[in-house]
Amino acid sequence: MGAFTARRAAIEALTQFRSVAPRINFKETPISAIYGSNVFNEDVQRQRLPKQIFKKLQQTIKRGVAIDPGIADIVAAAMRDWAVEKGATHYTHLFYPMTGLTAEKHDSFVSPEGCSAILEFSGKELVKGEPDASSFPSGGLRATFEARGYTAWDPTSPAYILENPNGITLVIPTAFVSWTGEALDKKIPLLRSMEALSNQAMRLLKLFGNNTATTVFTTVGPEQEYFLIDRNFYFARPDLINCGRTLFGAKPPKGQEMEDQYFGSIPERVLACMLEAEQELYKLGVPVKTRHNEVAPAQYEIAPIFEDSNLAHDHQMLTMETLRRVAEKYGLSCLLHEKPFARVNGSGKHNNWSMSTDLGENLLNPGDTPHENAQFLVFCLATIRAVNKYATLLRVAISSAGNDHRLGANEAPPAIISIYLGEQLQDIMDQIEAGGAKSTKTGGHMEIGVTVLPRLPRDAGDRNRTSPFAFTGNKFEFRAVSSGQSIAGPNTVLNTIVAESLDYIATKLEADIKAGKDFNKSVQSLLAALIKENKRVIFNGDGYTEEWHKEAAKRGLPNLKTSVEAIPHLISKESIELFGKYKVLSEKELHSRYEIYLENYKKTITIEGLMTASMARTMILPAAIAYQGEVAASITAAKSAGLKGKPLAEQQKILTELGSAIAGFHQAIDKLDKINEHHAKGDSLAHAKYSRDVVIPAMNAVREIGDQLETMVSDNAWPLPTYREMLFIK
Ligand code: ADP
Ligand code: MG
Repeated sequence: MGAFTARRAAIEALTQFRSVAPRINFKETPISAIYGSNVFNEDVQRQRLPKQIFKKLQQTIKRGVAIDPGIADIVAAAMRDWAVEKGATHYTHLFYPMTGLTAEKHDSFVSPEGCSAILEFSGKELVKGEPDASSFPSGGLRATFEARGYTAWDPTSPAYILENPNGITLVIPTAFVSWTGEALDKKIPLLRSMEALSNQAMRLLKLFGNNTATTVFTTVGPEQEYFLIDRNFYFARPDLINCGRTLFGAKPPKGQEMEDQYFGSIPERVLACMLEAEQELYKLGVPVKTRHNEVAPAQYEIAPIFEDSNLAHDHQMLTMETLRRVAEKYGLSCLLHEKPFARVNGSGKHNNWSMSTDLGENLLNPGDTPHENAQFLVFCLATIRAVNKYATLLRVAISSAGNDHRLGANEAPPAIISIYLGEQLQDIMDQIEAGGAKSTKTGGHMEIGVTVLPRLPRDAGDRNRTSPFAFTGNKFEFRAVSSGQSIAGPNTVLNTIVAESLDYIATKLEADIKAGKDFNKSVQSLLAALIKENKRVIFNGDGYTEEWHKEAAKRGLPNLKTSVEAIPHLISKESIELFGKYKVLSEKELHSRYEIYLENYKKTITIEGLMTASMARTMILPAAIAYQGEVAASITAAKSAGLKGKPLAEQQKILTELGSAIAGFHQAIDKLDKINEHHAKGDSLAHAKYSRDVVIPAMNAVREIGDQLETMVSDNAWPLPTYREMLFIK
């Protein structure tokens, strides 16, 4: 036995683990019986609301008609009755502040009346809440003297109940606004961007003769990657608790090189946890569909069926929350950080995205008729143009200190935003660009509005994992989004930039029609021009290679390697014009987000810097010095027992090597301490740059020697759970 360490206690505890979670039995309670059972969904609304009220509410939900404030009292009463019957005592306005997390404040339904209490919930309480919100980041949008913000009911995302062993709460998804009307959250810009896109997409649909659709929704299916490790290890790692990622850890003898994890059989405890998480999500009406092992050891994925972006966003937040919560019951910890472990893959959140009419027509689905195909190509090229024109804004939308570990690290897409089209769609684009030239592949003229396109493969069989933005048959997949982040930001940007391109295209085509030009011919020449102007962003090769980085530079594509480089683009002239024009984010709102992103970056790195120094000094250094003492004592003993010559010299070498590593380590910690105490002068950008250019290298220097010490110090004395334990003991 070695010294007592938290690490040994963790291993000891986990061998004793017995799940206390109740058994789930899908035979007794089939999915069909529980799906959506905790949601105030369309069925419940139909049953409980007067017909007229139900109709009005549905028009808001399905067709984006503004909510009639007159119906709030009746909806609130129905919601309360439904929730109270299910055992609810409290309600909460759930909102999505700029922390990227969710926030909630609970109020009870109880209202005293004489000596007894009645349960009340008025329309006013449904529609508007006033949390004391002065502690949420606002990036200067609210001075504390006018700190109030309020939450506003989002009728398009259904209310639901959240179960806890000791009670039930009615949860109402809301938007969070300042008194002056500025968005303080991530939901409002998302909703605004969906509306902007819908307005522009409808113009185009009209040109294509579609007079039946009334709204266009953007749709999203986010694939969530995450790690599950034993909870005892988690508690023994202050870095995981406070930073979400390990700041130390030598490379384990076995990593992911055997490629035996991806799609491998799921360990029993993990599967049990997934099943319960899925059951919880079914109750909440979250359409989770797929689960599997991911590439890194202890890494997994869960993916739902796509929904409209707003609902997908709310459900995605619920999914992260549910995974975290349920994991605990199984003695596991769910790690949603982008890079919890160095040297194995990090986690992303592939954001599958498309546009759909309210009648369910997927606008990125190549059709069977020339007409449908022309329309498809227009929407597809609008997206390509948007990504080319506003690549920097997409890069901003995925920026965070955590995601910088992934992007460009040859496991995740590079920071260069490019589009993968696949061979067949590329061929079609080439032909259109050439102006309907004879094609060897399809053997005919490609004339838009006349020719049927060759069938595109809808299963993304020939997928290219190295591309940040890939066309996968009937949708685009934005792969650079990170595991821990809210999908609201990336989708807000995506929707807005595509809205701008749809606007551009609709304006041109409308002018052509006005000028009496042939519609098909106009479309054909516009598409050819769009391809010519934007094809530099298309890249079908391997995004990890050095050649691509050179080629991309030649093409003039931005390569913003760190978030600190990316974030300032949010307040560029181009960005302010774009978001202002489509009323998604005002200049003031953009500035607030710019401040918040930079602050968040700086704070993250500051905490990591302090934690690195603290763990190094109080955990690793003492273990290393104690072990050095043991070695020294053993050598003295061996020497006095008569050991000499080469055998003695070899052992002294152990001591010398250890001594130098400890000395180097100590120097590196001292240096980091000084850097941690010091702060950059100037604005938030200066602070973020200091974090990136000064703190991170100093942290890395400490880690490098710390990890080296892990391979030198006696295993018995090592205080921190190691990678080989955390990733492989399941
Ligand atoms: P993969 O091969 O990446 O697993 P899938 O076809 O299973 O691809 O889809 C992955 C995700 O894409 C799922 O969440 C799915 O619901 C979503 N998806 C499919 N069609 C669309 C669409 N039209 N819009 C948005 N997301 C979609
Ligand atoms: Mg995918």
